[in-house]
Amino acid sequence: MATSYLQTHPDQNGYFGRFGGAYIPPILEQPFADIARAYQELKNSPKFIQDLQYVRKHYQGRPTPISYANNLTQHCGGAKIYLKREDLNHSGAHKLNHCMAEVILAKHLGKKKVIAETGAGQHGVALATAAAYFGLECEIHMGEVDIAKEHPNVVRMKILGAKVIPATHGLKTLKEAVDSAFDSYVAQVDDAIYCIGSVVGPHPFPMMVRDFQSVIGFESKEQFLEHEERLPDNIVACVGGGSNAMGIFSAFIDEENVNLYGVEPMGRGEALGDHAATLTYGEEGIMHGFNSIMLKDAKGEPAPVYSIGSGIDYPSVGPEHAYLKDIGRTKVGLSNDEEAVDAFYKLSQLEGIIPALESAHAVAYAMKLAATLPKEQTILVNLSGRGDKDIDFVVEHYPIPNAKF
Ligand SMILES: *Cc1c(COP(=O)(O)O)cnc(C)c1O
Repeated sequence: MATSYLQTHPDQNGYFGRFGGAYIPPILEQPFADIARAYQELKNSPKFIQDLQYVRKHYQGRPTPISYANNLTQHCGGAKIYLKREDLNHSGAHKLNHCMAEVILAKHLGKKKVIAETGAGQHGVALATAAAYFGLECEIHMGEVDIAKEHPNVVRMKILGAKVIPATHGLKTLKEAVDSAFDSYVAQVDDAIYCIGSVVGPHPFPMMVRDFQSVIGFESKEQFLEHEERLPDNIVACVGGGSNAMGIFSAFIDEENVNLYGVEPMGRGEALGDHAATLTYGEEGIMHGFNSIMLKDAKGEPAPVYSIGSGIDYPSVGPEHAYLKDIGRTKVGLSNDEEAVDAFYKLSQLEGIIPALESAHAVAYAMKLAATLPKEQTILVNLSGRGDKDIDFVVEHYPIPNAKF
């Protein structure tokens, strides 16, 4: 029964095994309890479900298709590679799946404003889009380094009417943006709601964001049957916080014959600070209000992290990923910067799809995996977003290959 795992995880206090929970200052206890209560109300409300289905179909562009990547499959010479096209969501990534729902929730709670962090700018753009559509104010916190790197998304957020606030401390990337957004939220908790951008943060966010993203998995299940008349043998998704991965995994957790691979960024190497492979190299710890696996420095503080994919350089990971790895249900794959850029160009030139650098990590891993598997096997890759935001950065640092095909 496909829903039984989802119905029993997390527990009432937001724990997946020992991971998750809500480690928050007293001032946030009531607001988070209100959010959890509002979510329970909405989840069982036919009107909410109808409203969400309406915007998904008539505004967002769902269902997104599954495409068979024939040329890429021939190139790799093994298992058949399919792509779940989350890049075709309005605003360019899977993030609108949870942003539309989070903004409906904010309205339900009578809030005037939504606040969030963003890494590559995709969550910021998605939230600014949803806020514009539903008529709320939007405040986005973003590391200064990412602001420079992801310029088009910064402009996009501003055009959409959002206020973009730079995070100027530390490494000036995703973790610092989360710190900055949390501080701002605490200062305006009556008027605003913090819309977390992944399956991270204190309970109920990891559960809520997973549930909102699960549409990816449930659509995939039906659509894949149309292509192959059976379920995929393998599902591959990149993992930053882990929302696109949980979105596609969630419908398949009870299907034991479907292998689930979460792909982490190996960046430029194994040294601490050169990657963001949290599940691979991390230890248990609490950060940003939840217990999970995290990368720590010598003092036990969140370690500096790096990946060419700005949306996946986070020193912790969604608690459900820590749990599913712990119980052996998911496997962790790795792709480094170079492999991601190679996959970025390969998918562009072989399939006519420019992937986000984050998604390119999943494609890169699928290419390696495909080559080791027989032709009868299948791999479904969650193509979490499109790469328009990355093109200037990539061509500046990695020349366009002149390969002939
Ligand atoms: C934000 C983002 C990610 C990483 O976030 P998850 O929560 O791990 O899914 C991956 N791909 C794209 C395109 C993104 O925008």
